[in-house]
Amino acid sequence: MENALIYCRVSTEEQAREGYSLDAQEKFCGRFAEHSGYKIISTYRDEGKSGTTIDRPALQEMLSRCQEDKSIKAVLVQETDRLARGTGIHLAIKAILKKADIKLISVAQPMLDDSPEGNMIDTIIASVNQFQSDLNSRKTKKGMQEKFESGWWPGLAKLGYLNKEVNGEKITVSDPERWHLIRDALKMYLTGNYSAVEIADILYEKGLVARQGKKICNGIMINILKDPFYAGIMNWNKQERKGNHEPMITPAQHKNIITIMDEHNRHACRRRIHNFLLRGFLYCGICGQKYTAEIHKKKNISYYHCVLNGQKHSNEGQNIEAGSLEKMIKEQFKNIQFSEDFIMLVVSKVKLSYEKKKEQINRNKRGLLNQKLALENKKCLAEEKLISGIFDDESFARQRDKIDTEIGKIQEQLENIENQRNIDVDTMGKVLALARNIYGSYTKAPDPIKRLYLALFWDGFWVKDKTIIKAKPTQLIEDLIREKQVITSPNWLRW
Ligand SMILES: [Zn+2]
Repeated sequence: MENALIYCRVSTEEQAREGYSLDAQEKFCGRFAEHSGYKIISTYRDEGKSGTTIDRPALQEMLSRCQEDKSIKAVLVQETDRLARGTGIHLAIKAILKKADIKLISVAQPMLDDSPEGNMIDTIIASVNQFQSDLNSRKTKKGMQEKFESGWWPGLAKLGYLNKEVNGEKITVSDPERWHLIRDALKMYLTGNYSAVEIADILYEKGLVARQGKKICNGIMINILKDPFYAGIMNWNKQERKGNHEPMITPAQHKNIITIMDEHNRHACRRRIHNFLLRGFLYCGICGQKYTAEIHKKKNISYYHCVLNGQKHSNEGQNIEAGSLEKMIKEQFKNIQFSEDFIMLVVSKVKLSYEKKKEQINRNKRGLLNQKLALENKKCLAEEKLISGIFDDESFARQRDKIDTEIGKIQEQLENIENQRNIDVDTMGKVLALARNIYGSYTKAPDPIKRLYLALFWDGFWVKDKTIIKAKPTQLIEDLIREKQVITSPNWLRW
């Protein structure tokens, strides 16, 4: 028997979902260990922790143990998204385990082994999981949007205010200790006689500190001073509206602050950041520096260019129009294709995993449906008791409400399972489509997924004289080329 560890994680939102509890995960992994000849020597559990961060106590503890204890041969997780949501973290954790010669076993995803195709499926799933977690954060934003529309600040309270729950609603109230200090600061700045730094000093003397007891730094002080929130105006997610919180100054005073600030730093220029598709993937073919993207406002075109922009070498003829470069990159996907054998391997592995998953989901669903049925029976019984006079109106109503709440909870869990199933099917579909047709999948994908596919295949592209001169594939793709699982055409740009 080989020694193994179990790692389980549940985020705050997932806690309500059936099949996601820490106990369920541990049991699932434990059963696998029994049948596969592993002896579980420890279980590590992170509760209420997001998979997008590596800052999880149990995970940290487990990773350091893995690096020290040579007797450990495997780490078991229910699914890889327990370990990480996000390709970067996922690959980092995998690398740590690999270095310690420890197998990572994803119990519910038997297709993820250490073969090239297993690694490719793994990377795609990790990428799609990351996209999913971006989507989730967008969903959270929806809740925040509603809060904003009701006139309350949707985020963490600004300095001088506190978040408080009143009658079940989270609202923003004035901080009795800091509200007056911040208002004094704004009024001082309005005189035009103080700089932001001086105001931070004065506040510090009066006992106003930032986190960790330090003085508020200049950048933060400036942000406070120019924040319209203090004039009762909320700017959130490119929208503006009046807030319900108690303002410190008037909107006119706020405008004055902005005017004073503009005069203080007349020559500060700012560059706007846009989400360009190829950001982070491009390098200068002349000097090797990164390429950056910019929008030419007057001509209304966007283009990529070397960050040095003519400092080290002439930039003449080097600006490349964003659309034309993105098209060239797209063409690169035409030069690469998976072998028939490889596609068949991927298909069979995805199928196997899908079957396993379906079993698990059906098991969970059956359990929930049974519980629901039992509750409905209980409700019928209560109705009978009411009719036959055993229950009075009031105790019947109490009983019925209790049962209805429980049925509602189960209903919610069933919907969650259905959602998860749709996500899984969607992920599998993406894996298969990509395996079969790389170029087609890339072309059809929305920009965030495009970026994930780019990252799956390439570390970077080098650009010179408005054309791509070389391309560096990722280690994974290099391996697949070596094993003849990826076929490249003669137009394939070598590193
Ligand atoms: Zn350059």
